[in-house]
Amino acid sequence: MTNTDNLFCYVHPNRPTTLRCNRCERPICAQCAILTPTGYRCKECVKSQQKKFDTALWSDYIVAFIVGAIASGIASVLVMIVSGFFFGLLILFIAPGAGAVIGNLILRFIKNRRSRLLFTTAAVGIVVGGIPALLIYTLPAILMIFSGSLQGLGVLLPAIWQVVYLVMAVPAAYTQISGIRIGG
Ligand SMILES: [Zn+2]
Ligand SMILES: [Zn+2]
Repeated sequence: MTNTDNLFCYVHPNRPTTLRCNRCERPICAQCAILTPTGYRCKECVKSQQKKFDTALWSDYIVAFIVGAIASGIASVLVMIVSGFFFGLLILFIAPGAGAVIGNLILRFIKNRRSRLLFTTAAVGIVVGGIPALLIYTLPAILMIFSGSLQGLGVLLPAIWQVVYLVMAVPAAYTQISGIRIGG
């Protein structure tokens, strides 16, 4: 008789089982087994695996937000200059690159530490940093529209480039910070 015939869950020693955790090899019962993309694992292994991917310090959230907001503020001023004096369509080419640069900068400040909430915090910082430039464009236009002047609609148009910048730069920065892993 080999000992594979007499496996008992390491958490519940009275439960016979045929399953083993594919990481630590210890026997686990159906209740303790968690199905992961790589097979069944015990709860302990799943937990320690998650910890490895969640290395962010509390200060990283503040740093990621502030660095994201400042860098994005600078980028949105550049967007304002480019769309005002040159050619708005250039934003379509510049915005993803700007997002990647901002993402790289944030990564340096957080020293490659990671957690999903940290990536989201950085993205929120980038959006917040773009708001002043957006307001500069939209506030006068909105005031004009409220005072009954439809010319405000024309003034509102350049604000679209600020929105285009944010819509393109934020995902680019997020991908840069989080790595290419889908859903990461
Ligand atoms: Zn295990
Ligand atoms: Zn068990």
